[in-house]
Amino acid sequence: MTAAAAESFEAAAIEAARRLFAGGVQFVAAAGSLDALPPMGLTEIAFAGRSNVGKSSLINGLVNQGIARTSNTPGRTQEIIFFWLGDALTLVDLPGYGYAKVSKDKSAAWNTLIRSYLRGRPGLRRVCLLIDARHGLKPIDHDVMTLMDEAAVVYQVVLTKTDKITAPALATVMTEIEAAMRPHTAAYPFVAVTSVRSGLGLPELRAGLATLAGPA
Ligand code: GDP
Repeated sequence: MTAAAAESFEAAAIEAARRLFAGGVQFVAAAGSLDALPPMGLTEIAFAGRSNVGKSSLINGLVNQGIARTSNTPGRTQEIIFFWLGDALTLVDLPGYGYAKVSKDKSAAWNTLIRSYLRGRPGLRRVCLLIDARHGLKPIDHDVMTLMDEAAVVYQVVLTKTDKITAPALATVMTEIEAAMRPHTAAYPFVAVTSVRSGLGLPELRAGLATLAGPA
């Protein structure tokens, strides 16, 4: 794949996904430990990324609703939040990682919770791994990719905040990411290029995720 490759969808698929994501989303559960995870029902799509990567903004942008909590205190929430998107998908907001001020104990707790979640959810069909386009992949993102390889969970890199960088800088970060993804067996081959501010890439990301809808 080249840096210019993008996943493309028919207009009808884009429209169907727009409707699906506009159809209303409902809070299901917040789980701070494994025994608090809700039962599996629908296919799950999870969202992961470093604190402040724009995860809440992206989830809210995808569903056109202010449901995911944006927090001024990165790293504060250590809960997995579950939302139902109609009767089609469960969207799963994983706690952000990599915030410098989080203690070692908390990072270890994140690892334990996420590792068991990733391994124990057969209906989890994809993790959107959000990367801030300005910063590219950090060592901790590589660690998380390895964790997902080990759990054999497919993950898709989603570049966020692309309105904040120039086109050449975006091309450079795409090349870097595509090279870094090669050894990762579970990486989805298409990177989603998004901006919540301009709306770039959201229709295509919705369409890609909508293809996974259904019972777990
Ligand atoms: P989270 O901690 O990963 O949930 O990140 P948030 O969604 O709270 O976003 C962190 C900051 O990035 C906020 O100030 C957002 O307004 C900003 N942000 C998020 N997405 C975008 C985007 O696409 N473009 C720009 N320019 N800013 C964004």
